[in-house]
Amino acid sequence: MKYKIPLIDLKKQNLSIKKQLDDSIKRILNSLDYISAKEVETFEEEFADYMGSKYCVGVASGTSALLLSLLALEVGIGDEVILPSHTFFATAEAVSLCGATPIFVDIDQSSYCVDSVQIQNCITSHTKAIIPVHLYGLPANLSQIVEIASKYNIHIIEDGSQAHGAKYNNKKVGTFGKIGCFSFYPSKNLGAMGDAGAVITDDKNLAAQLRKLRNHGRISKYEHDLIGTNSRMDEMQAAILRVKLPLLDTWNELRVQKAFRYISNLRGSNVIPPLIPPDRSHVFHLFVIRSDLRSLIQSRLSSMSIETGIHYPIPIHKQRPFMAINQQYLPVTEKIVNEILSIPLCPFINDDIIDRISSLIIEQSGNRLFGN
Ligand SMILES: *Cc1c(COP(=O)(O)O)cnc(C)c1O
Repeated sequence: MKYKIPLIDLKKQNLSIKKQLDDSIKRILNSLDYISAKEVETFEEEFADYMGSKYCVGVASGTSALLLSLLALEVGIGDEVILPSHTFFATAEAVSLCGATPIFVDIDQSSYCVDSVQIQNCITSHTKAIIPVHLYGLPANLSQIVEIASKYNIHIIEDGSQAHGAKYNNKKVGTFGKIGCFSFYPSKNLGAMGDAGAVITDDKNLAAQLRKLRNHGRISKYEHDLIGTNSRMDEMQAAILRVKLPLLDTWNELRVQKAFRYISNLRGSNVIPPLIPPDRSHVFHLFVIRSDLRSLIQSRLSSMSIETGIHYPIPIHKQRPFMAINQQYLPVTEKIVNEILSIPLCPFINDDIIDRISSLIIEQSGNRLFGN
């Protein structure tokens, strides 16, 4: 089925920068340098500068960013890494790929991010790192996570793949731990024209290690210092990202405006809108509502050609590869996966579409103030 109103609409966004995109594509095409050249290097400087970190290493995807970060920190067999089960599969996949064991914790029921109180209960002598995920664009409870990590001397690897530019206490996410990871998958707040990702850090040695790991452990063309892989960002993706990075804050502000329109429209309805703690800024990668009438709302919107999504319907600890090693019961995660619904939001969505979607949701779910 082709939806008239897609969940994420890249068309208007691309049109608004069409000339710059065309110019960049042409520039790279004509440069004949497609890998490991000037464009990636320049993007790395610009992204590090935007984030307020010392180093940025461009990589092939958000998944590579996570995996290489774990490898650079020497997390491996016998180590445990704490992370939420309610996230995209890649966060846990990276942990398993490096040989470590993922330890899943429950989430906080209002932020949908990892429940920082429960992290403490999961710490053992094997715990090597915590991966907080800033889910849907909202920063996790970083002050508590930083406190726990320093108390037990464990690394923080932030997964900022859904939260480029979001701030916690006025500081950008990705800069709170040793390492911050980002995905530039096309639909992310900052998206490439294919796969791409980045790692940011203030640690010079880690940055050097990451540069080797993404490129076969190379220290020169024919000399390899360690076993790495091919996880480089390519020049074309860097050029596209360089066009979009200067617009990221404006686009995030538009997302926030649109999100607040939804929140205001849905006030008094039976659905639970996203809640934003006062110490954080939300960049609304996704606009996620909660209702026990989810499937009714979803089919109503679908019948009107409005696309919705569920991020994510099956928690990772319930996915086949993880079922054998993890038997824990995560009550909040297991409850909310049946109630969450992502509805269309992007910087260029029209206000009248937001109003129409809001009305349909209220019609379908009833109104708290007037019964029904
Ligand atoms: C998108 C995403 C990833 C993976 O990024 P890719 O670039 O698709 O590899 C990892 N973690 C989270 C939370 C994501 O949203």
